[in-house]
Amino acid sequence: MTRIFNFSAGPAVLPKPVLERAQAEMLDWHGSGMSVMEMSHRGKEFMSILAKTEADLRVLLNVPSNYKVLFLQGGAIAENAMIPLNLLASKSADYAVTGGWSKRSVEDASAYGKINVVASSECDKYTKVPDFSSWKLNKNAAYLHVCTNETMSGVEFVDLPDTHGVPIVADMSSHILSRPIDVSQYGVIYGGAQKNIGPAGLCIVIVRDDLLDAASVLTPAVFNWKTQAENQSMINTPPTYSIYIAGLVFEWLESQGGIAAIEKANIAKAKLLYEYIDSTDFYANHVAIKNRSRMNIPFFLRDESLNDAFLKGAEAKGLLQLKGHRAVGGMRASIYNAMPIDGVQALVSYMQEFELAH
Ligand SMILES: *Cc1c(COP(=O)(O)O)cnc(C)c1O
Repeated sequence: MTRIFNFSAGPAVLPKPVLERAQAEMLDWHGSGMSVMEMSHRGKEFMSILAKTEADLRVLLNVPSNYKVLFLQGGAIAENAMIPLNLLASKSADYAVTGGWSKRSVEDASAYGKINVVASSECDKYTKVPDFSSWKLNKNAAYLHVCTNETMSGVEFVDLPDTHGVPIVADMSSHILSRPIDVSQYGVIYGGAQKNIGPAGLCIVIVRDDLLDAASVLTPAVFNWKTQAENQSMINTPPTYSIYIAGLVFEWLESQGGIAAIEKANIAKAKLLYEYIDSTDFYANHVAIKNRSRMNIPFFLRDESLNDAFLKGAEAKGLLQLKGHRAVGGMRASIYNAMPIDGVQALVSYMQEFELAH
């Protein structure tokens, strides 16, 4: 049977050992006689799963003790509205537009208050992070919102602007846990789970505790970060099974050697693909070298009339979901933590073969 490699941008590939463990524990979790899906969220079994999942995430990301970790629902997009509701109060907020996801964040947040777009790479077709010296930051902003890995166009931040104390709110959905970060540089880090963590629908929010007092009275309780922080994310029934899978992924990351080791593997995978793309003019990636994402690698065939043939041939080789985002076109290989280097090697081999044949 052909080995399958899934390059989907999300929902995306999960580590096989995680799926196998979920399968083994499906009917009877640790001798409880129940599936995790059937457990009371307030029972001792699930409470132990939640506590371990949070503790493991704190270790992996080295989360300081003055940050709360929340397990919410509604994916990353729900937070587009909840960020202004929880943080804006009567102030304005700064947003950088570096791709389709941060543009969507601006659109969604604009319903809740004054949003200033302080930088944009839209006229460069989202191929870079604009130089920080050009950002028009406001010193009285409630926060600065950035998307540190733009999943559609494959643009990743490698550093952050100096905001002179204005908290940075970062959408890290598509590269959280792929590289070490200094959590203390951020006010809020959030991410939908379906790229590097687990099932769609779950959103992880890491928030500095001094930012928990600004929520509008209109904030729904299930999305009020302070209320959720005071109730261990259990003001309602949390997405229990998704949290359990996230916990298995965190254990798998630890077994790989943690974030430093996974970053090394991610660098090697991305290098393999970018070096091949750069070695030929049959394929091209248009992102500024410095901002090339390690997780999402869009590329274009010089002759776009071959796109369908490329995708069909890829599928026949077990290389799935390589079609680019509809807003960007071309191809996109998403090579998250769970993509083994064998998958990238198989993709590069196929790209070479396809080039020779055409
Ligand atoms: C996928 C993605 C989202 C959307 O997540 P949902 O779970 O659909 O809400 C938002 N931001 C980024 C950067 C993403 O990659």
